[in-house]
Amino acid sequence: MTTLTKTEDVPAPTGSDAFLSVRDLRVQFSTEDGIVKAVDGLSFDLKRGQTLGIVGESGSGKSVTNLTVLGLHNRRTTNITGSIRLDGEELTDASDRQLEKLRGDKMAMIFQDALTALSPYYTVGRQISEPFRKHTGASKKEARDRAIEMLGKVGIPDPKRRVDDYPHQFSGGMRQRAMIAMSLVCNPELLIADEPTTALDVTVQAQILDLLKDLQQEFGSAIIMITHDLGVVANMADDVLVMYAGRAVERGTVREVLKQPSHPYTVGLLKSMPSLTSDVNEPLTPIPGSPPSLLNPPPGCAFSARCAHVDLVAGGRCTSERPQLADGRAAACHLTEEQKRQAFFETIQPRLG
Ligand code: ADP
Ligand code: MG
Repeated sequence: MTTLTKTEDVPAPTGSDAFLSVRDLRVQFSTEDGIVKAVDGLSFDLKRGQTLGIVGESGSGKSVTNLTVLGLHNRRTTNITGSIRLDGEELTDASDRQLEKLRGDKMAMIFQDALTALSPYYTVGRQISEPFRKHTGASKKEARDRAIEMLGKVGIPDPKRRVDDYPHQFSGGMRQRAMIAMSLVCNPELLIADEPTTALDVTVQAQILDLLKDLQQEFGSAIIMITHDLGVVANMADDVLVMYAGRAVERGTVREVLKQPSHPYTVGLLKSMPSLTSDVNEPLTPIPGSPPSLLNPPPGCAFSARCAHVDLVAGGRCTSERPQLADGRAAACHLTEEQKRQAFFETIQPRLG
């Protein structure tokens, strides 16, 4: 592994009690057009039994971060630096075999689209029981019973009969549940859910989120909930990490971040979100512009080209100096607290109720 750019970020707090601890993670892809800096110095912690929401627009690096945690990138074509510690074990230099074992025993992922995660050629039951057999050495009968039990747990009616169905015989919501059963069959201590409900209608979405909460209660898993929907975060998460252009721009508890956002990008996300605004008649304002290229990111704040407040900061620092994310509750922004209060907090506060 070659060394990348020097570490620019102040490391986040050393969470000795964290189950998952990510420090200064950088993930770069070599492409024909150049090097894509998909994740550019990311640090966060997650404790057992807690849920971290990762939010940000499409392309901000949410999925790449989590695929990296799971060790699912091709390490020959992907340059990964920094540290990912799971229960004290360093994953960035773990072997493929080690990672494969961890993906069954300790960590699992729920994808946005169950159809891509489930094979059309095998029964639902087999796809739940096989990983269980592989990781526990259980007999076929034990594994089948376990698959039935898991289907029951995720709310599939008549699981004894449905265990022999193929994915196409399930509805979209049931397939999503079956995939959750598959992910949870080995009681993963870390569950990464990447937009798990985006493709589902609101009723099923709420059921799946409730199900995840119940299962978390039962298994005490740590969950990373990746979403572009702040409503899902409000419903599920303890802490939030707001990502923009491969970096974390704001971090805090759900209450802190949603009630008193401290980064103009988070404010923009909140203003563009229907479900959190108290007044449904108030117009939603999408954030103008689009994120910068990750091939050649700007030198200052990555959000500066879309930020309405850059003129408040003297010396053009927003476009020349990259704001750092401090430890704990923090936002990577050059505005002072007083400037933030005047610039946006008073305008967004009434909306958040
Ligand atoms: P999201 O926040 O929507 O999940 P991603 O993590 O999927 O965003 O992607 C972050 C950035 O990395 C995007 O610009 C995407 O195009 C780029 N990217 C993801 N995977 C690859 C890859 N294998 N090769 C090159 N670029 C990639
Ligand atoms: Mg994604």
